[in-house]
Amino acid sequence: MNIIEINGKNYQLLITYKSIKNINMRVEGDLIKISCNRLVSKKKIHEFVYSKQAWILKHSKSKTPGFNNDTVYYLGKPYLIKHEFSKENIYLINNNYIYFYTLSYDITLFEKIYYRYGIEKLTSLISNYVIEFYSIINKYSNKPKPLILFKKYKSRWGMYNSRDNSITLNIMLIHFSENAIKAVLWHEFCHMLYLNHGREFHQMIQLYMPYYKEYEKELKL
Ligand SMILES: [Zn+2]
Repeated sequence: MNIIEINGKNYQLLITYKSIKNINMRVEGDLIKISCNRLVSKKKIHEFVYSKQAWILKHSKSKTPGFNNDTVYYLGKPYLIKHEFSKENIYLINNNYIYFYTLSYDITLFEKIYYRYGIEKLTSLISNYVIEFYSIINKYSNKPKPLILFKKYKSRWGMYNSRDNSITLNIMLIHFSENAIKAVLWHEFCHMLYLNHGREFHQMIQLYMPYYKEYEKELKL
């Protein structure tokens, strides 16, 4: 496998040969996909990739900043993965590192542990916001406090279900900043008053969270 380092981060270089004139490049997370013709040397490809560093950094960032091969995002900040041999199946965050205590270096297992504890972390992180936001909603509606649930969604950050008065948050939010999480939560609380995304809904959001648009930018991947 071809590894290329850009700004201290390792990327895998995948080269596909096609009968084309130019060098084409696509970035998917930490994978750089290159297509070019067979006459282009490895050296030339490397030069090309290095000349596009800024572009690569910008485009690899726009992927879900969840788990990479060597990094985990926690509340909007990246932490380098370290592995410690142990039977405990836990993780610990210290300085810029996230230590996984498991029997083997296994990213799938790391993810499982991370999201399991992620639910606890998210629950305690949002607990005060749930109280605050519900007290606002309560001024406009007599609906009971919603049930907060977590799920690993692929294409949404949160959801309000009016039938059982529940708010479901995407567990993946644990990778984003507290402000982004707060914005999703407030968005879903506002659905208790307005089910659609109409003008009144957005006015309600803005009224109590003037920086909402700023906060949710992070989630527009
Ligand atoms: Zn919505």
